[in-house]
Amino acid sequence: MALSEERIKEIQERIKDLSPEEQQKKLQEILNELPPEELHELTKQQCPFCGIAEKKIDSKIVYEDGIVMGILDINPANKGHTIIFPKKHHQFLFQLSDTEVQHLFKIINKVSLAMINGLNADGNNIFVANGQIAGQNSPHIIIHLIPRYKDDGIDFKWNFKKIGDDEMSNLAKKIKENISTHKEVKLTKKTLTEYWEEERKA
Ligand SMILES: [Zn+2]
Repeated sequence: MALSEERIKEIQERIKDLSPEEQQKKLQEILNELPPEELHELTKQQCPFCGIAEKKIDSKIVYEDGIVMGILDINPANKGHTIIFPKKHHQFLFQLSDTEVQHLFKIINKVSLAMINGLNADGNNIFVANGQIAGQNSPHIIIHLIPRYKDDGIDFKWNFKKIGDDEMSNLAKKIKENISTHKEVKLTKKTLTEYWEEERKA
């Protein structure tokens, strides 16, 4: 179901006189009330990566086929920093079909190799943010490929957390027990919009 122009105007009307902070809060409230189809449509319409895939937004394309696209990041961590993404609008990596994931990573490998051969990179980082809390800035899953060089100043290090052996066993158990096939993913959190969509349908 497409989100009508009137519906978008109505949403804009509801937030127009608010401060940017209040707008953000109100928008989140409105998003939480929206039916799943409208929510999906709204995030898709606002999505920069769907715009790029549909060629409504210009980009420096490094790779394209029917399923995925590769473009240069406009805010690169290093020269040649590339973003690979599925053309279809998905928020999370685990929402892709196994075939799409397989194809996506096949292209990631091809582009990684092209960075090493074409840009003389010594290696690359492959970075994925699944969800806003993980640093995802748009509701479209993207994979960052960052070419790496000796002394390039990029640092992905984090401080280690100390966790006891019992808790480590318990954590491993919890993950192990919840490993299921793609289709069986049970979604619960409202902040994860697509999760929420699945929950509402269930
Ligand atoms: Zn999108």
